[in-house]
Amino acid sequence: MTLRSRLLLAQVPLVVALLFLGATAVITLAHVGRAGQRVLEDNYRSVLATQRITEQLERMDSAALFIIAGERERGLAQQAAQRPPLETELGVQLGNITEPGEAEATQRLRAAWVKYREEFDAFLQERDAEAARTRYFASLSPAFQEAKAAASSILALNQDAMVRKNDQLRHQSERVNTLMVLAVLAALGFGLFFTTSLVQRALRPVSVLSQAVRRLGQGDVEARAVVEGRDEIAQLARDFNTMAERLGQYRKSSLGELLQAQAVSQAAIDSLPDPVLVLGADGGLLNVNAAAEEVLRLRLDDGGDALGRVEPEVRAVLERVRAHVVGGRGAYQPRGYEEAVRVEASPEGGRWLLPRGSPVHGETGDVVGATLILQDVTRLRRFDELKNDLVATVAHEFRTPLTSLRMAIHLVAEGVVGQVTEKQADLLFAAREDCERLQGIVDDLLDLSRIQSGQLQLDVREVRTEELVEHALAAQRTLAEDRGVRLSQSLSPDVETVRVDPDRLHLVLGNLVGNGVKHTPQDGAVSVHVSRDGAHVRFEVRDTGEGIPAQEQARIFEKFYRAPGAPAGGAGLGLSIARDIVQAHGGELGVVSTPGQGSTFWFTLPQPAEA
Ligand code: ADP
Repeated sequence: MTLRSRLLLAQVPLVVALLFLGATAVITLAHVGRAGQRVLEDNYRSVLATQRITEQLERMDSAALFIIAGERERGLAQQAAQRPPLETELGVQLGNITEPGEAEATQRLRAAWVKYREEFDAFLQERDAEAARTRYFASLSPAFQEAKAAASSILALNQDAMVRKNDQLRHQSERVNTLMVLAVLAALGFGLFFTTSLVQRALRPVSVLSQAVRRLGQGDVEARAVVEGRDEIAQLARDFNTMAERLGQYRKSSLGELLQAQAVSQAAIDSLPDPVLVLGADGGLLNVNAAAEEVLRLRLDDGGDALGRVEPEVRAVLERVRAHVVGGRGAYQPRGYEEAVRVEASPEGGRWLLPRGSPVHGETGDVVGATLILQDVTRLRRFDELKNDLVATVAHEFRTPLTSLRMAIHLVAEGVVGQVTEKQADLLFAAREDCERLQGIVDDLLDLSRIQSGQLQLDVREVRTEELVEHALAAQRTLAEDRGVRLSQSLSPDVETVRVDPDRLHLVLGNLVGNGVKHTPQDGAVSVHVSRDGAHVRFEVRDTGEGIPAQEQARIFEKFYRAPGAPAGGAGLGLSIARDIVQAHGGELGVVSTPGQGSTFWFTLPQPAEA
């Protein structure tokens, strides 16, 4: 049965109750109506008849009085006119006996009437006035009174009956009222009770279904709605069960796959020997591998500030790399081993960890976190230190013999120790040039080893900017003239002096200007510009040379890196040293270049504006 039919059926008890009530009301009202009608029919006719009989008797009596008074003709006519209707009314009364005692009263009336009629006939026989009068008072009037009394008794009988029946009717209607109220209440109670229970029964499946839906909504994929039948709700319940079944299957499969994928990736990062951490955009720890737990003594389930237990120095490095990556500046690559941070972790002693970072992208492609890898470079760093030591020792040991070599070649080339032929002189000049280049490289190496061994002690002083720039340009002037390259400078008036270590700054500027001259063809130009840039002073060395391809621009600052095809003579150290010195001053160094159009090397130095 459909839900609609069930709900319609549920209204049936109420309808039955209403019909019952209606039928009862109609029957009761008809009954009361008929009782009233019967009163009219039964008693009113008798009342009317007896009243008329009394009236006719009185008229006959007054006709007798007319005769006594000498109006015989009038009296005769009047009494004759009363008799037939009186007989008729008496007939009516005889046929309408309804009350107890009425039959006897009517017989009495009839006997009295018969008697009165006979007395009247005898009265009419009396021709003598006196005799007539005597007869009237002696027998006619008493007979009249008797008949009238009989009529009156019937009238009273019927009137009493009417009053009684009226009372009865009133009582009956009061009873009917009470009965109707009770019937209405009963019908309403009965109808409501059965209608409600039927509606409840019809809607029970809906509540079963809604409970199942609620449970499913709360995540219980085992929830099912058990509804029997073929109606709409049962169909809906079957569809719901199918949906819950599929959802359960999907959840099982996707959850399983997800858990497996998670286990695989966790195993993968755990298998890495280097510590790996995943940090959220807000700095919270999202994941770590076994190495990170061991080396940094981190635990993912520590919650809250999990990084709080990491050594402050390491923590600062992690925060810096995270800020770089999350700030949208791409993956973080360290510039060298000197960025490695020491962790006093393992039983075998401290370790040097080199940080790298790469972004974690969210669904929409924005950066939602950073993966940090701390590469264990303890051994590499040890090699690096060995290499630095070696380089420093070699450079140092080269210096003195190189100086004597240069001196000796110089003396021989100048002919101090004897005449040299032109050919010999050419060879000696070439040897001297190579010696000078070698000297340059050895100087660079010594600078580098000093810087790297942490011996870069800055001797900061107030220096006139113009002096700095002029010094750098003067050092390159001969070379520039030889190569046909113009040198120029432009200094902003608001940076008259800077607070720097002049010797180190000479090295930086000399390197940049020297590079510019080396890489600029004839008729090109190299210019130095100094200007204020907020709380910094900005130096720029611009050249009109060949420029640097984009893929080379990041690498040229690496130690010992020389671009393919670079002119011989350098060791690839100049820019690396320059950047170290600028950073030691708290500034930054970079390059902007378009191949074929020249390069601009710039660096900034923090210099608060003079008040
Ligand atoms: P080097 O002393 O060998 O020149 P640097 O560190 O000074 O080493 O420079 C590294 C590399 O950068 C050079 O090999 C060169 O290819 C490139 N380079 C430096 N300055 C310029 C410039 N002004 N124009 C073009 N290339 C340059």
